[in-house]
Amino acid sequence: METSKAEESPQRPPRAVAGWCKNYNGFANNETCKAGMNYKTVAGSETGWINILPCTKPVSCVSCPKMEKPTEAEVAAWEEYTKGRFQMIMTARRAIIQTGLKGGSIECPSCKGALYFSIASNGHVHAKCSAEDCLSWME
Ligand code: SF4
Ligand SMILES: [Zn+2]
Repeated sequence: METSKAEESPQRPPRAVAGWCKNYNGFANNETCKAGMNYKTVAGSETGWINILPCTKPVSCVSCPKMEKPTEAEVAAWEEYTKGRFQMIMTARRAIIQTGLKGGSIECPSCKGALYFSIASNGHVHAKCSAEDCLSWME
């Protein structure tokens, strides 16, 4: 898991979770999914509509004409990607802790850009790399 030199940031594949529609983008912040379907309309109900949405269920009592389930290969690629990202975060987190500082920036161990961080009083680390699509997390 530990690496002593910078790791290549893996190419981000399309998000693909087993059993989830590829168009799902979360109903908390979006009225419609990536395929333009209105979540409440798909559910066909005002009451309890969240519970019957088919988007993240292997089986549902309602169907959606635009549902697209990922292939096994797509799911595997996404899992591989998220595993790699997690390892990069762990590497960066260790480097941040080793500075002994409560905030500042270090060289991003992933892309060599600037990784800005702050450590809260409870020890939680917040960090964001200056490079788009590189490391960013909040504990
Ligand atoms: S199941 Fe339908 S509404 Fe849900 S994310 Fe997929 S396309 Fe959109
Ligand atoms: Zn970076």
